[in-house]
Amino acid sequence: MTIGRTRSVAVTGIHGRVVDVEADVSGGLPCFTVSGMPDTACRQSPDRVKAAAVNSDLELPKQRITVNLSPASLLKQGSGFDLAIAVAALVAGGTISPELVEGVVHLGELGLDGAVRAVPGVLPAVLAAEEAGVRQVVVPVGNAAEAALVPAVEVVPVDTLAALVQRYRCLHRRGPTPPLPEVPPRLSVAPTAPDLADVVGQPEARYALEVAAAGGHHLAMIGPPGAGKTMIAERLPGLLPPLQREQALEVTAIHSVLGALPDHVLIEHPPFMAPHHGASMASIIGGGSGRVRPGAVSRAHGGVLFLDETPEFRRDVLDALRQPLESGRVHVARASEVVTYPARFQLVLAANPCPCGNNFGKGAGCVCPPQVRRHYLSRLSGPLLDRVDLRLKVLPVTRAMLAGPRGESSATVAERAQAARLRQAVRWREIGKHLNSQVPGPVLRSGPWRLGAEVSRPLDEALETGSLTLRGYDRCLRVAWTIADLDGAPRPELQHVLEARGLRESGEAA
Ligand SMILES: [Zn+2]
Repeated sequence: MTIGRTRSVAVTGIHGRVVDVEADVSGGLPCFTVSGMPDTACRQSPDRVKAAAVNSDLELPKQRITVNLSPASLLKQGSGFDLAIAVAALVAGGTISPELVEGVVHLGELGLDGAVRAVPGVLPAVLAAEEAGVRQVVVPVGNAAEAALVPAVEVVPVDTLAALVQRYRCLHRRGPTPPLPEVPPRLSVAPTAPDLADVVGQPEARYALEVAAAGGHHLAMIGPPGAGKTMIAERLPGLLPPLQREQALEVTAIHSVLGALPDHVLIEHPPFMAPHHGASMASIIGGGSGRVRPGAVSRAHGGVLFLDETPEFRRDVLDALRQPLESGRVHVARASEVVTYPARFQLVLAANPCPCGNNFGKGAGCVCPPQVRRHYLSRLSGPLLDRVDLRLKVLPVTRAMLAGPRGESSATVAERAQAARLRQAVRWREIGKHLNSQVPGPVLRSGPWRLGAEVSRPLDEALETGSLTLRGYDRCLRVAWTIADLDGAPRPELQHVLEARGLRESGEAA
């Protein structure tokens, strides 16, 4: 009695683990089952495999087929095990020679007609295969470009079960194999982030964005509708450096798990996510019924998460942002498991000054009672705002601004921000940080990084009079370092500290 063996990959979060797929044929009534902790979709695999085999003129053993997926302790989710289960069963039935497939990873869903369909999570699966020393992966043609992002593994694209079996028959006879289906070319996309040059006027907002990009600072903007807060926020990714290869693979893996890689490209530019304030906890933080899916915080990993009209977001959603802001990851708990996704993003918050939006300047048009106004912005305060170094008041563009000169392009500003980042990386290497925004307050307030009394005087005085909290003090120090870095100064000087204080005060809640 032959046991058919091949391999596949189970993906949890964005991490895969190679799974052994074994098919055993024994006497008894025809019956085809899967064991080893399959979820519902995986348990139904035999139905798809049987139909696909029949429609591909392939014969499965007419006995009892038992497929085991191991390790059994690992949940096997989705239909992506279909191809491996079919191959193992066909080996057990003598249709495919065992030595051809034993060490090969097979991924893909089977259509009832025998077509091999694309599945989510192929990139993390192939990364896991590479790590486990697998040399060859067979993937749906629709996932082949994504799989090819992992250069150390040979990718065999297939479009039908019949074609795959034909290929194995040819390999067994050592004859020429039929040509593989054509893989759509990997598109290279230019960064699509809109340009900063399109923002008219708003010199302070433009500068705050540059500081945010240079030091990795979170940013809050308060201003009336139409002041251009969204337009400003959308331009932050274009000021950030392109993703490093490891990070790009991680970001691409998140989108792969979501099945949201339409162009099958490596995502090399920081993403921008702007979930609606009515969005559910699951869609922002992660979760959902059935398979756990990454939320907006993970789709923004390596890029920017923009919350427009922040006070309108659900309180529990805003509270849940604290975990990723602290640790750069998010844990989504389910009955049987905790799934972890990366979620390190730069946060941009935007809020109207009050529910009616008119409480700016002299506030003449505002119809909100004072109490309502206070309550509205208080939703922005607390632990979330504590992590936001830059707070900016954004006013509508005036006629005078429209007549002004066109501002610098994103490319010019990004170059300066990048130079400032390099300075930070060198300076903070010994404490294991890269950016000013990551440096703890006590480090900035003591030892070699402590500023001279003359330089820090405005902050010291504000702290003494209580107009600045200690957290606020630390935020000003971080921003002052970034401003000095942008200026090419070795350390912050008085003017940098004053500018930092200005960037924070201008958006202080009224
Ligand atoms: Zn109002």
